Amino acid sequence: MIKKELIKNIASELEIDICRITDGGGLKKYRKILEQRKKTGLWPQAFTEEDIDKLCNPSLHFEGLKSIIVIAINYHNNSKQINKCLSNYVTQKDYHIYLKEVMEIMVKKIKAKIKKDFNYKIFVDNAPFLEKALAERAGAGFIAKNSLLINPDFGSYIFLGEIFTDLEIEKDKALDLDCGECTICLENCAGNALTAPYQLEADKCIAYLTQKKGIIPLAERKKMGGHIWGCDICQIICPYNKNTSKSSKKELQYFERGIEYFLKIDRNNPPEELKNTAIFWRGSRILIRNALITAANLQKEEYFDLIKTKLNDNSSLIRYYAVWSLSEIDYQKSLSILKKHLLKEKNKEVKQVIKNIL
Ligand code: SF4
Repeated sequence: MIKKELIKNIASELEIDICRITDGGGLKKYRKILEQRKKTGLWPQAFTEEDIDKLCNPSLHFEGLKSIIVIAINYHNNSKQINKCLSNYVTQKDYHIYLKEVMEIMVKKIKAKIKKDFNYKIFVDNAPFLEKALAERAGAGFIAKNSLLINPDFGSYIFLGEIFTDLEIEKDKALDLDCGECTICLENCAGNALTAPYQLEADKCIAYLTQKKGIIPLAERKKMGGHIWGCDICQIICPYNKNTSKSSKKELQYFERGIEYFLKIDRNNPPEELKNTAIFWRGSRILIRNALITAANLQKEEYFDLIKTKLNDNSSLIRYYAVWSLSEIDYQKSLSILKKHLLKEKNKEVKQVIKNIL
C-alpha cells in the first residue's frame, strides 16, 4: 500500500492545489438521487450521460481500478463582476489540456519515486462518471446547493482532474462540511435553474444556453443578458468564494475579451489564441451568435454598423441573429436595411424573421 503523503508531496511539488485519494466504490447515495430524479422526469439532463451505471460505477471506465487520485487546481481571478461576457473558467489555456499535462508529469514522478510501473488513465471531463461525487468522497470539497464542488480553502473556482490507477494507495475521508442554512445562490440564479437545493435544471442554466446549438427562443435570448459564454452568478455571490486567493498560474489567467472581439471574428481565420481556450469546441459561429444576442440585450448602439456587416455572412444562423440584433438595438434605423436585405435573402427562416419584424 502506497502512503497517500507520498502522492500529496508530489502534487505540491507540482503546485497542484488539492490532491486527495479515493476508490471507485461508495456511490450508492448518488445513484439513489439519480434514480429518484429519473422517476420525476428530472433526469437525464442536457449534456449528461443517460446510463446511470456508467455514471455510478467508475470501474467501468478502467479495468482493475484500485485508487483514484483526485486533483484540483484553483483558477479564481478574483473578479466580482456579475455580468462579465465570459465565465471565469475561460482561461488563457484550455484547462483540459493544462490538467492533463500536469497529471502526466505527476504519474512520471510517482513511478520514479516508487520505482515501479503501474497502469493508469487520466480524465478531465472526458468520461461520464460522477466526478464531483468522487471528489466529495475523496474530501476535495463538498457538493453544494448550487450543484458545484466547494473546497473550504479555494471555493468553487477549481478545475478537477482524476488519475484512475491499479495502484493501491491509502484513501482519504470525506469532509464534514455543507452550505448550512444559506440559500443565496438559489435566490439569485438569473436563469431560475436552481429549482431546489442541489437541483440544477441544466436546460434553464444560462451557461447551458450559451452553448446550445441553433436558434434560441426569444425568452432564452433575453435571459442570456450579457453572457457570451457561461455564467458565474451562483459562484460570485457564494460566501465560500469571498476570501479565496487568486490563481498564480499564468496559463490559468482569465481570457478577458468583450463583445466587439467576438463580433469581429473572421470565421475563415479565427484567432489562434481562441483555439487554445475551452470555449472553441462549439466553433466560432456560436460565439458570434452569442455576441449578437448580448449586443442586442445590452443595447450596444456602437456596434450597429459592425452587426450590419453580418447580414452578408454565409451562415444563415449569423444572418438570422444579425437581423434580430439590429432591430432590437435600433428598430427604426433597422427597417430600411432589413427591407433591402429581404429582397436578396434566400433562407426561409431569415426571411421569416425579417417579415415578423417589418
Ligand atoms: Fe451553498 Fe450558499 Fe454557496 Fe449556494 S451561495 S453554494 S447555498 S454556500
